Amino acid sequence: TREIHLVARPEGEPKPSDFALVERRLPDPRDGELLVRNLAISVDPYMRGKMTGIRTYTDPYDLHAPMEGAAVGVVETSGDASFPENAVVVHNAGWREHAIVPAAGVRPVNVTDATPATAYLGVLGMPGLTAYVGLLHKAGLREGDTVFVSGAAGAVGGIVGQLARLWGAERVVGSAGTAEKVRYVTRELGFDAAFDYHDGPVADQLAKAAPDGVDVYFDNVGGEHLEAAIGAAKDFARFALCGAISGYNATGPRSGPRNLGLIVTKRLTLRGFIVSDDPELAGEFHRDVAPAVAEGRITFRETVVDGLERAPEAFISMLRGGNIGKMLVRTS
Ligand code: NDP
Repeated sequence: TREIHLVARPEGEPKPSDFALVERRLPDPRDGELLVRNLAISVDPYMRGKMTGIRTYTDPYDLHAPMEGAAVGVVETSGDASFPENAVVVHNAGWREHAIVPAAGVRPVNVTDATPATAYLGVLGMPGLTAYVGLLHKAGLREGDTVFVSGAAGAVGGIVGQLARLWGAERVVGSAGTAEKVRYVTRELGFDAAFDYHDGPVADQLAKAAPDGVDVYFDNVGGEHLEAAIGAAKDFARFALCGAISGYNATGPRSGPRNLGLIVTKRLTLRGFIVSDDPELAGEFHRDVAPAVAEGRITFRETVVDGLERAPEAFISMLRGGNIGKMLVRTS
């Protein structure tokens, strides 16, 4: 089988030569283990942080070893009676075509026409849960709120906007990196307004899109976006700080928002969060979101790259904005 190893820690933007495709023979699974053939693997922004040698909230990736990450696959050989062969499962041994995983680290999923296996890497997986937890539990969305979400056409952002609309937001505004993405979120996802952040200062464009100000900001981007949202915030606005992708490839210190004094005068709440801190919310998330996806009230897109050997390319492309919706690699 084949797997991707990290062979160099990226400096700035990752390069193909930071990764290597490695062939390997897998042993037979032992009792309590499963041999899984991956159908698709996820490439996610958080992986950029794990490629540096520094521990943050999670350990860095080792060099010359397969990287971890979400994957969805089919059980080929089962050493656990509760997982029949051909069961479709989600697990964390991504970046490879086959994996031997302990049954305890595997979750069976229900594949239907509306919820293909890959949905469990996106809308019904970690990105969807992130949107749900951040918007409803960290920012505390209320009916009538004006919500701003950056990274609006991405895996997390696209779900945030749709949840906001379904949960009673008055106005949903998004930003994204291309005109096509702006059209996607307004025409297909039901955002009330959106803008391309390349078209002018974020603060100016946000002031036009949300002239009465913002109650909730869901931050995927950081930097200039965060400063603009602080500027546009109403008194007592709540921010869910989910990610700051504009700085993930930075090689030096980044300048932060210059208007932090407004956090005091506007009595803002800025709340950083990591989705894995709240595993107990997964049940509520599936109860609320799975039916909405099955009924088409929440829609999603995927950008699919074919072949494990192209996983580094998919990852680099995602960091550059090459995806609409969830970026995935089909491995089988
Ligand atoms: P996306 O599907 O949104 O893909 C990343 C997107 O980021 C790109 O498509 C690109 O879109 C955008 N981007 C890249 N560089 C910049 C930039 N300089 N300025 C603005 N946008 C940029 O990824 P996810 O939905 O998986 O993740 C979104 C965010 O959520 C990330 O910050 C991620 O780290 C965070 N996250 C946090 C979690 C948590 O637990 N806190 C869990 C999961 C994700 P564009 O064309 O619009 O620029």
